[in-house]
Amino acid sequence: MGTKIKMLPKEVINKIAAGEVIQRPASVVKELVENSIDAQASKLEIKAENGGKDLIQVIDNGQGMKREEAQLALKRHATSKISRANDLFSIRSLGFRGEALASIAAISKLEIRTRSEEELAGTLLKVSAGELLEVKDIGTPVGTNIIVKDLFYNTPVRYKYLKTTATEISKISDIINRLALAYPEISFKLIHNQRELLESPGNDSLLDTMFSIYGKEVSRELISVDYEDRYMQLRGYITKPKITRASAKHQSFFINRRYIKSKLLKEAVTEAYRSLIPKDRYPIVALMLKLNPILVDVNVHPQKMEVNFSRKDEIFKVVKSGIEEALAQADLSKKINLVEEKEVLQQDNTDEKAQQQSLKLLKESTDANKQSSKETKQIVEKSSKKEYQASKTKAEAKKGVNLQEVSLDYQPAGEVEQQPSLSEFLPLGQLNNTYLVAQGPQGLYIIDQHAAHERIIYNQLLEKAAQTAVQSQSLLVPIKLELTRPEIEILTEQQLALKNLGFEVEHFGGQRYLIRAVPQLLGKLKTKEICRDIIEELLEQGKINKTEKVLKNLATVISCKSAIKSGQRLLKEEMENLLVQLEAAKDKYSCPHGRPTIIHFSAKELAKKFKRI
Ligand code: ADP
Ligand code: MG
Repeated sequence: MGTKIKMLPKEVINKIAAGEVIQRPASVVKELVENSIDAQASKLEIKAENGGKDLIQVIDNGQGMKREEAQLALKRHATSKISRANDLFSIRSLGFRGEALASIAAISKLEIRTRSEEELAGTLLKVSAGELLEVKDIGTPVGTNIIVKDLFYNTPVRYKYLKTTATEISKISDIINRLALAYPEISFKLIHNQRELLESPGNDSLLDTMFSIYGKEVSRELISVDYEDRYMQLRGYITKPKITRASAKHQSFFINRRYIKSKLLKEAVTEAYRSLIPKDRYPIVALMLKLNPILVDVNVHPQKMEVNFSRKDEIFKVVKSGIEEALAQADLSKKINLVEEKEVLQQDNTDEKAQQQSLKLLKESTDANKQSSKETKQIVEKSSKKEYQASKTKAEAKKGVNLQEVSLDYQPAGEVEQQPSLSEFLPLGQLNNTYLVAQGPQGLYIIDQHAAHERIIYNQLLEKAAQTAVQSQSLLVPIKLELTRPEIEILTEQQLALKNLGFEVEHFGGQRYLIRAVPQLLGKLKTKEICRDIIEELLEQGKINKTEKVLKNLATVISCKSAIKSGQRLLKEEMENLLVQLEAAKDKYSCPHGRPTIIHFSAKELAKKFKRI
């Protein structure tokens, strides 16, 4: 009987290994560009088609390869770079495992054009699925020009997991932006579907590089950071508190020129800005840490770029203090009374506007509901006089999740059968200006004011959108937005969806756009910030291709932005109105993000806790 164990063919091994190095087009771009940087290129052009799924091309003016080198480069574990060192941060070159090219070659159609200075004729290599098809002379400038076509064409499972063009290109763009920040002396040009997404100057100025990525509006408001202590040096730029974004993804950290992801450093930034910006906003930062890898041991996960340091506290302190010092020296109008007015500063203008607007929204619908509200009041008054009976429904026997702090068993109200009408609830007050506490026919109810209001607005939005196109509100003074190139891509792609939602966007030259109309529902929220957040949200969710889905996503964002925030005090009448409106809402027991709006402690549960039964 022959053995069942067989050696895997080389192509299969390569395909498997490739899956570990190359997850998506952006991984190819990263590997190729890092090779170009290692080859001392000063100028790089990266082209992508259809999010890199159809084509990726990287052209550099680096050292190039001799014919034998080029052929060898395609073999697994072939590298011209030292592979002895085991600390990633003490190695000067970016790649050193010698598997990127072999991996890419295994899962695509690859063409390499390259020439070193010593050679007169260049070399063209063609490879398909890891098999060398052609080697010949070719006229080509010194440097390397690599084309990767039809990525994953022979690994359909991988291909299936690719996201939309917009998502894939935004991942590519993120990588290029970060490499451009790390290497301001190199000029990077990124072109997607013939459109230029980035051209960094390559003049060794971080500030100019940031300008090319974030535009004038942001770079005008940058503050320089320059700080050092015994072990490390911190350099870079951060935005003044008035320029913030809805997510921390525009924060880039580098250690010894390597881009890293680090919760610790993100935390340090947040801490440093704590009293200057609202807690759900993030400044844009590009910060470079230089440290001796021997003094501060840095371990990094090679693909994920997540780091682990020894001397965590020290690093945290340097980043936080460096930023604080820079902010203190910068001319910030909000600087004075920083300590005394901590509370006030946490809510900036937009926040206040948003809150007023939320209340107005609530009032408006209230007026419409006045009649029913009056009736409700009567009911409430009546019912509050009644002794509430502990309900003996089946649902109550069901144990809810254990809520640690209160040490009461509660259940999301939605799970209880025979729901009482929320409009019959008697609001007792507010807890932490965040939750309404209400007495209801079956015990105690706690309502998350933000989540509840979100649900109400979300439903109204979708309802209106279903009836007609969402009503649009023209702006007397259009909002001027300067967008990054990837943002422009998504804007162009989603223009029709945005229009259906009531946005009117007009190109204003360069990277500037005018928003001439916004959905009426935004009301006073028609700020620059919310428009930008909405675009960013679209970019984040790039997968959207159905209008209906875009609509839902937008409705989620708008409702989240325009709903009453937690921390806002409500009048009794406002609490009552919230309950009345929530009662009328479909899916009232969860907010559009899927979190519960109401939790319930049954009278029986309370009695048990007090050992009455
Ligand atoms: P590694 O970068 O880990 O060495 P790669 O598979 O990425 O492994 O590349 C293999 C080798 O091919 C490199 O060590 C280098 O010698 C050569 N090479 C790859 N890309 C370039 C380039 N753009 N310019 C010059 N040489 C290159
Ligand atoms: Mg490499």
